Amino acid sequence: MAAYEYETHDYDVVVVGAGGAGLRATLGMAEQGLRTACVTKVFPTRSHTVAAQGGIAASLSNMGPDNWQWHMYDTVKGSDWLGDTDAMEYLARSAPKAVYELEHYGVPFSRTEEGKIYQRPFGGHTTEFGEGPAVQRTCAAADRTGHAILHTLYGQSLKNNAEFYIEYFAIDLIMSDDGVCTGVVCWKLDDGTMHVFNAKMVVLATGGYGRAFFSATSAHTCTGDGGGMVARAGLALQDMEFVQFHPTGIYGSGCLITEGARGEGGYLTNSEGERFMERYAPQYKDLAPRDYVSRSMTMEIREGRGVGEHKDHIFLNLSHLPAEALAERLPGISESAKIFAGVDVTKEPIPVLPTVHYNMGGIPTNYWGEVLNPTAEDPNAVVPGLMAVGEAGCASVHGANRLGSNSLIDLVVFGRAAAIRAGKVVDPETPPPALNTVSIDKAFDRFDFYRNAKGSIPTAELRLEMQRTMQSDAAVFRASETLKEGVEKMEAIAAKLPDVGVTDRSLVWNSDLMETLELANLMPNAMATIVGAEARHESRGAHAHEDFPDRDDEKWRVHTISRVDGPKVELSYRPVVTDPLTTEDEGGIALKKIAPKARTF
Ligand SMILES: Cc1cc2nc3c(=O)[nH]c(=O)nc-3n(C[C@H](O)[C@H](O)[C@H](O)COP(=O)(O)OP(=O)(O)OC[C@H]3O[C@@H](n4cnc5c(N)ncnc54)[C@H](O)[C@@H]3O)c2cc1C
Repeated sequence: MAAYEYETHDYDVVVVGAGGAGLRATLGMAEQGLRTACVTKVFPTRSHTVAAQGGIAASLSNMGPDNWQWHMYDTVKGSDWLGDTDAMEYLARSAPKAVYELEHYGVPFSRTEEGKIYQRPFGGHTTEFGEGPAVQRTCAAADRTGHAILHTLYGQSLKNNAEFYIEYFAIDLIMSDDGVCTGVVCWKLDDGTMHVFNAKMVVLATGGYGRAFFSATSAHTCTGDGGGMVARAGLALQDMEFVQFHPTGIYGSGCLITEGARGEGGYLTNSEGERFMERYAPQYKDLAPRDYVSRSMTMEIREGRGVGEHKDHIFLNLSHLPAEALAERLPGISESAKIFAGVDVTKEPIPVLPTVHYNMGGIPTNYWGEVLNPTAEDPNAVVPGLMAVGEAGCASVHGANRLGSNSLIDLVVFGRAAAIRAGKVVDPETPPPALNTVSIDKAFDRFDFYRNAKGSIPTAELRLEMQRTMQSDAAVFRASETLKEGVEKMEAIAAKLPDVGVTDRSLVWNSDLMETLELANLMPNAMATIVGAEARHESRGAHAHEDFPDRDDEKWRVHTISRVDGPKVELSYRPVVTDPLTTEDEGGIALKKIAPKARTF
């Protein structure tokens, strides 16, 4: 057995992750006087949330009529009827309050002439339950909304005495035999010391796993560590086959051009200069949801109307917009286009291609952020002591496809909800849980195995194999044959993980070891994604299956639950929550309004 000395820290709550979700949860916990630690592998304001450009959705009605019922309807339809209705109602209803809270905490939103929060149109956000014109619902701080939110929440968390453990890498959850979580084991990256956070509640806010794919808009740190820890604890992942491709990643680098660019009037063209989205989505055109636009672009390229030497991408045009508007509303992407595509957006179109952007799936939770361990008897069984929020979690409000600007609102609404819930279930007066040395030793044994790994495959090589396989076989369009092949390839790749080779044995700033631990986390996320995709014989949201082109509500309006053990994935299914929180009589949305129907734009 590997013997590592460690320091023990007792807290009421430990939050793993300092992105928008982790910081909003941390702040909410600390405000209520819970002793709260926030552990993060990168400096808080370097979390991927900092890169969010376009904005955060809430029906403030600052630019025209809007209400939470319309927002809820759009979210239900956007999810292609796979989201949980109670959670989607909670999201849309709480959104305005959560945004005003951000405003009062100090987020420097862009303003209208009268000084209200500026809102822009985003794909899939409409009026009149999808019958009316597009709505301006997305609140923005220019094209640096995530940056503004993250800096504000970090400052507020410090003000409320939350304690930060920065550049600490969480290795594994501490779990009792009867399935209670009592903390997390961490490695301090800069000095190699080991730390055990013993807590009454652990909140996973570790972000997405975009880096399971070759081309992604997400940061290199988005390695699904929360999902990895949960899978190793024998707990479930949910709806992992739903991976969002953003229509406008810069061709080559994958760097994101926000949907706000189309919200401000930008449009896509093919090699014939045609605004082809008018053909695919006559009503909302370039502002149809992302899965729709990504598929339309892929169709154009497949049919030989791509642009460039290899006819393998599409143009995004902004040059018809006034230069002042570009400078004021989209300064960040004007700069990105210059740096990553060598394009002056006031004169030329930007070359773009659908790029992996967001993971709809994740750790299943209820709308209070409590992690679920669904069983046949109880699909809503809660794991005591464990919560998950943000992109790591799956509440599920995005179902099979997320609407643009609905993630930032998800972070703050559910970060806040988790804090409210923790305020009820965590008692600061009780003593800390007893140290579970069995579970702690197990975490160190696994750590030590990779630290001393002498296998034949370098981490970077195995990671690339995984990324290329996922990119080609779990793509925008999927088919039985390629998915089957993809699953076989991924099983072989995951089976090689124990044969990985690490060259650096030290404990101080050992990036080789850290990347290996991250790869070991990416792998179960990737496995669940491709196995879940192969099994789902229908097309819904981001999962477009060529051999099963229709949505099948009879059989498939269910959440995929996967349990991953090495290369093995066991699938089961959990019913979608179809009832909203409130009835029509209570001011809620009428059930018939949100009944499944064809999803056209
Ligand atoms: C380029 C880009 C632009 C986007 N624009 C928008 C937008 O305009 N509107 C919108 O709604 N959504 C947008 N999204 C999506 C949205 O930004 C993300 O879904 C969201 O920011 C995720 O936040 P998070 O708090 O869940 O995780 P992250 O911000 O990814 O943070 C994860 C945190 O977990 C920590 N962590 C992870 N693993 C460990 C570990 N093992 N140990 C310790 N700490 C760990 C990290 O240090 C980090 O602090 C965008 C995404 C991208 C990639």
